Amino acid sequence: MLCSAHFNLTASLFLQPLNPATLSSKPTFIHTLRRTSPTTTCSSPSEPKPRKPPPMDGKKPTSKFRKKSAYGTSRRSILKKTLRQEQVTFSTPVPDDPVVGIIGGGMAGLLCALNLEKRGVRSTVFDTGVHGLGGRMGTRVIDPQPLIFDHAAQFFSVSDPRFAELVQGWSDGGLVQQWQGTVGELEHGGQFLPLTSSPPKYVATNGMRFLADSILSQTSMVDVMRPCWISKLEPYNGMWYLSENGKPKGKFDAIVIAHNGKCANRLLALSGLPLIAKQMKRLELSSIWALLAAFDDPLLVSERDGLSFEGAFVKGVDSVSWMANNTKKLLGSNSDGPDCWTFLSTAAYGKHNKVPQENIPNATAERVKAGMLEGVEDALGLTRGSLQKPSYTRLQLWGAALPTNTPGIPCIFDPYGRAGICGDWLLGSSMESAALSGMALANHIADYFQNPGVPDEFALGLHTEFQPLEGHDIGQFPGMESRKQSNQVKEYQLTT
Ligand SMILES: Cc1cc2nc3c(=O)[nH]c(=O)nc-3n(C[C@H](O)[C@H](O)[C@H](O)COP(=O)(O)OP(=O)(O)OC[C@H]3O[C@@H](n4cnc5c(N)ncnc54)[C@H](O)[C@@H]3O)c2cc1C
Repeated sequence: MLCSAHFNLTASLFLQPLNPATLSSKPTFIHTLRRTSPTTTCSSPSEPKPRKPPPMDGKKPTSKFRKKSAYGTSRRSILKKTLRQEQVTFSTPVPDDPVVGIIGGGMAGLLCALNLEKRGVRSTVFDTGVHGLGGRMGTRVIDPQPLIFDHAAQFFSVSDPRFAELVQGWSDGGLVQQWQGTVGELEHGGQFLPLTSSPPKYVATNGMRFLADSILSQTSMVDVMRPCWISKLEPYNGMWYLSENGKPKGKFDAIVIAHNGKCANRLLALSGLPLIAKQMKRLELSSIWALLAAFDDPLLVSERDGLSFEGAFVKGVDSVSWMANNTKKLLGSNSDGPDCWTFLSTAAYGKHNKVPQENIPNATAERVKAGMLEGVEDALGLTRGSLQKPSYTRLQLWGAALPTNTPGIPCIFDPYGRAGICGDWLLGSSMESAALSGMALANHIADYFQNPGVPDEFALGLHTEFQPLEGHDIGQFPGMESRKQSNQVKEYQLTT
C-alpha cells in the first residue's frame, strides 16, 4: 500500500500510437503459416536447426547482398548497413500462444518479461551476464572478507505510481529498503550539504544485482538464458530465429531489443528492421569510470569534524561525480570489515579518457585510478597524497553508461517486423525509466498480439525525434536534480 496517495492503476500503460510508420509497402518476405512450438532454450539440443535462412527470406541471395555482408563492423559500415537494409514484413497470423524473445536482462528487459507474463504471454530473456542478470544494476562481491560494491546504479527514487506499486512489492518482499544514510552534495574542498528534502532513496537489500536476479523468481512463463550473447537475428517463416555465434538459440513470434550501444547497432544492422535500427543509432551515450576501493580505516578523516555521509554527488571536481560508502549503505553497522567505496567519474572525464572497455591499457588504468583518487582528495578537502592507500581497488569503464538524449516515449514498436525496443533511454536515464519502458513495451506487445490485424495502429516511436537529456552524471533522480532546482516532481513514500 502506498501512503502518499491512492492510485487507480490501469492494467496497461496508456500508449498513444504516433504517426503510423511509413514503412515500405512492398512486402519483402514471403511467409507460410506455421504454428509455434514451445519456447526453446539455449541449452535445448532438440531445437530444430533453422534451415540456413537466406538473407532475404523467399529470395535467393544475390551477389549484391553478398557484397553488403562483406562490410566490416566500423561505425561507418554499420551505418551503411542500417540504411540499406530492407524492411521485413511478417504476414503470418500471430499464433494463439505467441512467444517473445527478449535480448537483454537489465531492468527494462526483466520488467518486460514480468509484464508479458502478467498479460499471459511467454518469453525468454537472453543476457550476457556471467555473474547474474541486471546489466547496469551491477554488484561485485569479493570473498572472503567479503567486500561488496554496487558498481553502477547506486540507488533509485520513485516518482511514478506504477513504479511505486512495483517497488512496494519489492519492499514487502525484503528485496529493497530505504537508504537511511545521509546523502548530499559535496563541493570541492570538503563542504557537504545534505539533501534534506529529497524524496526517499531506495537500495537493493543485498545489492542491485540480487534485486535483478530476484525479479523473475516468481514467474512461470519466462525462461532465462545466460550467459548468452545473441549475435544474430534472422526472420524466417514468420518467426525470428536468434543465434549466438552460429548456434541456434530459439525462434520467436516477436523480439524485444532491451539493450543499447554498439552491440545493439551491430545486431540491428542487418536484421531487416531499418526503422528500429535508425532510432537506435540516434541514441548517444556517455562513458563513466567506476573505481571500487576498500579502505581499512574510515575514509572520512574529518568525521569528527562533522563531515559524515554515506553518499555524495560531487561538485566542482573534474574526475569524480559520485562517491558512496557501499559497506555502510548495504550492511549498515553489521560490518566490521573495510569500508567499500564506489567512486564514479564525471561523464566529461569518461569521454576524455575513453578507451575500449574490454581492453583497457594498463597506462590508462593507472592514470585514471590516480586521477580519480586525487579527485576524491580534492572533494574531501585533503592535501594531495594524504588519502590513505586503499587495500583493494578495481577499475571498470562503463563505455555505454548513460543516455544523453531521448525520444521521450515509453517504447518503440515496429508491428510489421514484430520487434520492439525498451530501455532507460526511451524515457530518461534511471532504473525507474528502464522499468517503465519495459512495462510499457510488454503491454503494447500484448495489445498487439490481441489485435494484430491493424498493424499501423501499433507502430510506435519509429520516427520520433530525440531531445537532449538533463540530469546528474550518473542519471536522473526525480526530485533531487540539484539543491538549486525546485522540486516539482511528485514523489512516493512507500509503507515500511
Ligand atoms: C555508472 C552508472 C551509475 C548509475 N547510477 C544510477 C543510480 O544511482 N540510480 C539509477 O536509477 N540509475 C543509475 N544508473 C542508470 C541505470 O543503471 C540504468 O538506467 C538502468 O539500469 C538501465 O537498464 P536497462 O535495462 O535499460 O539496460 P542495461 O542495464 O544496460 O541492460 C541491458 C542488458 O542487455 C545485455 N545485452 C547486451 N547485448 C546483449 C546481447 N547481444 N545478447 C544478450 N544480452 C545482451 C547486457 O549485458 C545487459 O545486461 C547508472 C548507470 C551507470 C552506468
